[in-house]
Amino acid sequence: MLENREGGCHCGRVRFRARVDLDRLSQCNCTVCTKKGILHLPIAPEDFELLRGKTSLTTYTFGTGVAQHSFCSNCGMHAFYVPRSQPDKITVNARCLDGIDGPSLKPTRFFEGRHWEEAQRRRIAEEGRAPATGLNGAVTLQGILDRAPE
Ligand SMILES: [Zn+2]
Repeated sequence: MLENREGGCHCGRVRFRARVDLDRLSQCNCTVCTKKGILHLPIAPEDFELLRGKTSLTTYTFGTGVAQHSFCSNCGMHAFYVPRSQPDKITVNARCLDGIDGPSLKPTRFFEGRHWEEAQRRRIAEEGRAPATGLNGAVTLQGILDRAPE
């Protein structure tokens, strides 16, 4: 069920509002998602609004540099990011939504990020939708930051 939720990092410097469907939670077993413990809710950038924290965000990149792992430079929480598999989307970390009971979150989808190329082919086949070729997540992240208040 689609619903409007708010969330943020741990210290409160980064806050966002997003339209999410908690029935579409996904989990990924790539190296970074495993360490973060993130539960993914990928959404269109139009359904995401950064309410505050623009200047507190820092972005970590590695490998291809397509994914933009944004996090709060004060508390270190990864409340949302731009994924490599869908660099035209914003992925909300369900664990960072307000009023969430972590252990009750049940992922219904799984992305085999450890074998990324194969997982991506499978995902595109299942969803019938491929992201624009050559798009870097930095463009999507910048769009979010440009619309956010100072
Ligand atoms: Zn913080």
